[in-house]
Amino acid sequence: MVGLNEEVNKIRNGVLRMANTFDPSVRDFLAGRIWLRLHTPFPIETIDAHIQSQHIKTIPGIKTTKTYANQTRHICNRCENTIQSRFTTFDCAKCEGPCTYCRHCLKMGRVSTCTELIVWNAEQPIYPTNHTLAWQGILTPRQQQASNELTESNTKRIPHLIHAVCGSGKTEILFEPIHKLLLAGKRVCIAAPRVDVILELEPRLRAAFPETAIEALYGGAETTTDSAQLILATTHQLYRFRHAFDAIFVDEADAFPYTAEETLRRAVRKAAKPEAPVHFVTATPSDKLLNEIKKTGQISTINRRYHGHPLPIPRYDSLWNYTKHIQKGKLPKKLNNWTEERLRRKEPFLIFFHHIGLMEQAELLFKQLDTRIHAVHASHPDRKEHVQALRNKEVPGLLTTTILERGITIPNVQVAVVGAEQLIFNKGALIQIGGRVGRSEQHPSGDFVLFHHGITYAMDDAKKEIIQLNKGGVPN
Ligand SMILES: [Zn+2]
Ligand SMILES: [Zn+2]
Repeated sequence: MVGLNEEVNKIRNGVLRMANTFDPSVRDFLAGRIWLRLHTPFPIETIDAHIQSQHIKTIPGIKTTKTYANQTRHICNRCENTIQSRFTTFDCAKCEGPCTYCRHCLKMGRVSTCTELIVWNAEQPIYPTNHTLAWQGILTPRQQQASNELTESNTKRIPHLIHAVCGSGKTEILFEPIHKLLLAGKRVCIAAPRVDVILELEPRLRAAFPETAIEALYGGAETTTDSAQLILATTHQLYRFRHAFDAIFVDEADAFPYTAEETLRRAVRKAAKPEAPVHFVTATPSDKLLNEIKKTGQISTINRRYHGHPLPIPRYDSLWNYTKHIQKGKLPKKLNNWTEERLRRKEPFLIFFHHIGLMEQAELLFKQLDTRIHAVHASHPDRKEHVQALRNKEVPGLLTTTILERGITIPNVQVAVVGAEQLIFNKGALIQIGGRVGRSEQHPSGDFVLFHHGITYAMDDAKKEIIQLNKGGVPN
């Protein structure tokens, strides 16, 4: 039995030793994060020792209070969700009682009443101040001005909106301001609602900042123990950060459904340090965002594309009762002719639909013109392959839902919207869709046709805004 006692003592001493020291890699990982106690990349004993030595603080996953009317009210301490319908209460075997979990951030591991969250509770890591900006391009005068204004906002710690038309080179504008922040040892985040945007940005930023520790976080990406100074993340991932960043740039903020915008804002706010500015970069800011930044910060507008050519103005073409025609197995004549012309001229094309079912019915009809035409939507298994095939000129064109409204560049692409009067095609969506046309220097224009069953305000507003931007004006 002596041997067993010795073992116990050895373990106890080991734990005590750990309690007195701390592991910098735990600090580097946990600084600015709010994490599940039981799901870190470190051994549980290591985390426990840091809790014992008070380097790490624990927080209950869900905070439950009683209202005056004696109703229970839950708050998720990770994502700060307070929408009561997004909580579920169940009989928990672990805590042997009613236990509540948050459905809002469920994807990142369940947070319940008996789940413990951990945050770093000691000295913060110091980030390097030597960084190289390797990007060799030259900004247009207007881009340069926006870039300078953004740096100015960082100095003043006020929010900034870069309102830049599609194809004006938004990312390059951020390089200098980000570089300046990194040189000052600041921690920076670029967040976007959609994973496609993050995947597109990652190689560009790695190339621009070759000496900087960069990490891209999105659903499915592996958790590492690294502590990057520059983090690219889907906005969902920001639920797991808390007071982490000295500046956050939210790219394509409006790609998020409007109703969810509040939660997104809260997640971004929580991830930023209390005094840190949150900036936005988009071609189609919502009125709400515009008004907010007008009051509290600064706006830079770029209404010219980097190649200097104007944005394509949409043209309207009626396509009466297109739904009925397609359902009867007949491609409306104008749509048929438009597509045949693209095929004849060997111009790549995108045709946008509002409804997957209708698009798939139409797909069969388009295949009679060319069997290589495919339809894609968000959950289509071959979505990435089909888009790549269009880039490679292996297919002449694609039918698509609004998933391809942004983030895609196909030289000389021609664009049609079928059913432009549908609600989903709001002003922002139409401007983004038109933004696909004429992006390259060799093909700075192209057809942007809105086939419709009636003209909406959204169509007129989109057209008006594009004309205004082309005139050099600032939309109001
Ligand atoms: Zn939550
Ligand atoms: Zn429980």
